[in-house]
Amino acid sequence: MLTEFHIGIDDTDSRLGGCTTYTAAILFQELVSEGFKPLDFPCLVRLNPNIPWKTRGNGALSLHFSIEEKQLEEVKKIAIGTVERTTDLAQRATDPAVVFLKGRVSNPLREFSARALHDILSVREAQQLAESVDAEAHLLKGSQGLVGALASVGADLDHDHTFEIIAYRTPENIGSTRRVSLDSVRQMDTMFQGLTFNNIDPETGRVLICPHGPDPVLLGIRGEDPTSVTKALNQLDIDESIERVMMFKTNQGTDAHLSCQRRIGALRPYQSTLVIGIVSSAPRIVRGGHVIFRVLDETGSVDCAAYHATGSLRETSLQLFPGDSVTVSGGIRPRLSGELTLNVEKLEVTSLVDTVRVENPSCSNCGTLCESMGRGQGFRCRKCKARFPRTSRVEKLEHRRIRVGVYLPPPRAHRHLTKPASRDGVRRPTPYGTNNSSMDEILESLASISIAS
Ligand SMILES: [Zn+2]
Repeated sequence: MLTEFHIGIDDTDSRLGGCTTYTAAILFQELVSEGFKPLDFPCLVRLNPNIPWKTRGNGALSLHFSIEEKQLEEVKKIAIGTVERTTDLAQRATDPAVVFLKGRVSNPLREFSARALHDILSVREAQQLAESVDAEAHLLKGSQGLVGALASVGADLDHDHTFEIIAYRTPENIGSTRRVSLDSVRQMDTMFQGLTFNNIDPETGRVLICPHGPDPVLLGIRGEDPTSVTKALNQLDIDESIERVMMFKTNQGTDAHLSCQRRIGALRPYQSTLVIGIVSSAPRIVRGGHVIFRVLDETGSVDCAAYHATGSLRETSLQLFPGDSVTVSGGIRPRLSGELTLNVEKLEVTSLVDTVRVENPSCSNCGTLCESMGRGQGFRCRKCKARFPRTSRVEKLEHRRIRVGVYLPPPRAHRHLTKPASRDGVRRPTPYGTNNSSMDEILESLASISIAS
């Protein structure tokens, strides 16, 4: 009898980002080559990026297959073997957590996974859930990885999702400079605008598809659909051999972590969240060039920090005025004082107050700005010496330098989950992996990836 079978692998405390995708790529290819039928692409699931004890990427991987019940033990053996083998290969001092789940993903697991995007979940809660949904956990080291491994199995990517095609280096090249022509990346970026995203930072020209450092990832291209990212990859000039290529379905670029709106009074450290309120203090610049402004709702107020690295987002924050209405999204950090700060990842200005500047009147004869003749004495024109004893200072509407709208940091400061401006309005029509024809699509798509070197 055929059953759904799900495998989750956590990327816990990996200092070399991207390694777990490599493990998942090898495992997926191995299972497919053994004749097992995937229900979907391998999933790269980014979780709450504001948890400080997780690596920068905070991601986990899940594989979804349709398998004969009698072959489950064989698949488990392959999975654990692959994880152990690739972990050794990369010489990492870490042992990821692996979770197996037979049958459909239940609602409690879906809900757990949704909360793992924006909240802090305890290992104890993960253990209780694993028990109640009958998930089998293999913890090779600590149990912290259980949260991520379970969350990746339960991730619902059927609504908004994107794809990332990742090319891996051959072992002898790992650690050396990546030989990818930057010009070809720029050309690809132009050709595939709207279909791919975050290839290049437009302000600095920096190429964003290649990681730095000694991990096995040569490059990753993010985009809307498998075909576009595959074509984009084939467009690049790459002057080194590629060991393998894998397509991942992912929640990157979807703002999935900013979907939970909270009252300011209910904020807790390390949540990712969205608050709606009114600016209650004029922005100020603090050491390091960061801009701080305070936002108030009916339950309390919180300092919001737009860091120097957020570029234009910081500039916009500096132009806010008390009374402006805003929706602020980002991560909650505790300060030494015990107060909380919301680190701004996205700012939506929903309405601007009129600001007025009080100034001396202009001369009605020549238009020159008048000077005061003393308190309560009226004004006098400097140029034509006309006097206006009964005139007082005038209020002038000030020009607001910002408009209502959504403000984002530049791509180089994005989280993996940050939804880039180019994805605004993207709608997902049909989910993948729900019937046999899409399974064929998946295999076809993977087979069509030709390595262009
Ligand atoms: Zn005058």
